[in-house]
Amino acid sequence: MSETSRKFLIGVLLLLLAGTFIGWLYGRPDWGLLGASLLVLFWLVRQLLAFERALRTDKFGDFRFGEGIWEQMLSKYRFERERAARRKKSFQLLLREVRKSTNAMPDGAVILDANNEIVNCNRAAKQLAGLKRKKDRGQRVDNILRAPELVELLQSNDYESSVEVQSPVDDGIWLNCRVVRYGADQKLLLLRDVTERIRLSKMRRDFVANASHELRSPLTVISGYLDVLSDDDSISDTWQNPVTQMRGQAARMRQILGELLELSRLESAGPAKSNEAVNVAELIGNSIQAFGGHANVAKIAIDVTSNAKLHGDSAEIETVIVNLLSNAIRHTPENGAITVSWQFSAEGADLVVADTGEGIDPEHIPRLTERFFRVDKGRSRDDGGIGLGLAIVKHVLARHDAELTVTSQSGAGSEFRCHFPPERLVISEPVPLS
Ligand code: ADP
Repeated sequence: MSETSRKFLIGVLLLLLAGTFIGWLYGRPDWGLLGASLLVLFWLVRQLLAFERALRTDKFGDFRFGEGIWEQMLSKYRFERERAARRKKSFQLLLREVRKSTNAMPDGAVILDANNEIVNCNRAAKQLAGLKRKKDRGQRVDNILRAPELVELLQSNDYESSVEVQSPVDDGIWLNCRVVRYGADQKLLLLRDVTERIRLSKMRRDFVANASHELRSPLTVISGYLDVLSDDDSISDTWQNPVTQMRGQAARMRQILGELLELSRLESAGPAKSNEAVNVAELIGNSIQAFGGHANVAKIAIDVTSNAKLHGDSAEIETVIVNLLSNAIRHTPENGAITVSWQFSAEGADLVVADTGEGIDPEHIPRLTERFFRVDKGRSRDDGGIGLGLAIVKHVLARHDAELTVTSQSGAGSEFRCHFPPERLVISEPVPLS
């Protein structure tokens, strides 16, 4: 108990004692005590009402509280009030600084609640996506940014991936959108202007496509003359071998150009059409048959446990099978084994090409689908490898919402698994064959 509280209590007690004593002098101590109690009560009520009015009207000068407990309460209240005002001011300053720095950010940041409704956003979000802090507060962000990829990302609660969409303000602006978990059940939608990167990659794509296209015609002429020359018995023996080599190299160049053009087409095409039901089991059978006649080829087994069909492009899926199979054949010795499987499960379907061949060092696996990447450049070139096959496979799979997983160990064979999601399957079909 504080000194003031003690003094207050003693004062009240003394007053009650004095009342009782005076009452006792008149022969009625109880009346004396009652009178003193009423006096104390009257004084307390008056002070309390005055204190409440002072708090309400914020006019403390008009009231006299005297020294003691009321004065102490009053000064404590004033102290707390001033402290709260100081805190509020420093929070306001801090908030202003935070707002200034988020507004200075070149990237858009949008705070969303659990229902994807806008809570707040910075200035860049306004410039990049046309979001207005006050007007759009409480609006669902997917009603404003309507790109299907972004809607899907917001609904999926995927905090790892990002999507690229056109800005609703200007379709020449491309935005990279990422969602970050924020607070208890809030999210932060980050928008980054990637127009320049998209423009450069389009320029690169166009350049490769145009250069390949332009090189095709002169190469066709050169190849034509080389064909004629190689059939011409009148050319000297010294030229026989160079002409054959030139024909081989011209054919290789035609193959490179063809594959580069195919890659450019796949890169700029959207998702594969889904109205065709591709019979994967049949394509596997045909591809194996096509390779079957070749000499020095490892034994190829087929393991098709489902006749599930696929929504997609039949020619492209065949390219995937042929590329994976020809790789397996080129990298597996004659006494090795290759298995091509088509498996169905609740998670989708898998096209798997596995071999017992030379395998791949784990350090090379992440780079396999890069253009012109070859583990052993010299050897691969000798056996006809260009380094574009797996890049094509990756693009075809992306167009079919599928993913490629490579598992391999040097010297212990490889497995190339293409996983197709259930949405890509014709679900009335997948009856197990065995
Ligand atoms: P390439 O035309 O050289 O085969 P790819 O893009 O198809 O190009 O393959 C890239 C590289 O991946 C190959 O050069 C080879 O080193 C490696 N590779 C692909 N498939 C296999 C496999 N089944 N076994 C071992 N290495 C493989």
